[in-house]
Amino acid sequence: MAFAMEVTLVKSKKNAIVDKKRCVACGECIISCRKNAVSINAGCFAVVDANICVGCGLCSRSCPVGCITLIEQEEV
Ligand code: SF4
Ligand code: SF4
Repeated sequence: MAFAMEVTLVKSKKNAIVDKKRCVACGECIISCRKNAVSINAGCFAVVDANICVGCGLCSRSCPVGCITLIEQEEV
């Protein structure tokens, strides 16, 4: 008997946000983000596109200074 399995990827209710005062613009979060949701802006700190971010937390774990946190979308 064959079973059909349907997997649905559901977007987390969290988004990553960057404390721009602590960001050192190293780019580690950009490398780690599989959704290409992070960029370095002209002010030389990382910014996350909340419309793309899926709240996986990979960027937060890669940040050497710990300045990325995940917050509930309603708090954005
Ligand atoms: S939480 Fe995930 S998707 Fe969002 S910016 Fe970080 S690495 Fe990218
Ligand atoms: S990994 Fe952290 S310090 Fe480096 S650019 Fe990203 S937010 Fe800034």
